[in-house]
Amino acid sequence: METQDIELLRQRLLREKKRILKGRNKLLNRPKSGYDIADKAAELSEELVLSNLSNNDARTLRQIEEAFKRIDAGNYGICESCGVEISMRRLRILPYTTHCIQCQADS
Ligand SMILES: [Zn+2]
Repeated sequence: METQDIELLRQRLLREKKRILKGRNKLLNRPKSGYDIADKAAELSEELVLSNLSNNDARTLRQIEEAFKRIDAGNYGICESCGVEISMRRLRILPYTTHCIQCQADS
């Protein structure tokens, strides 16, 4: 996979992550909630944070984090089932997907 393609998809993943987290912060930053979000954020369990997201957003956020890990590990864009490179066309639409279109269709 080309470096510039990965960079492009990484930007997309970042944008998507920001969009989701922005929605989460709206839920968490209730005025006069009695405690400081910045101090308490570290204490919030991941479960609690995720519970503030819709199920769909929480799942997407996990998939985005996994995609970043795969980029770091150098195996981003490889289908987890059959090991082929996932097409750029598919990654542009679903940058956090872990399966090629064939395996997705089979599952
Ligand atoms: Zn596959």
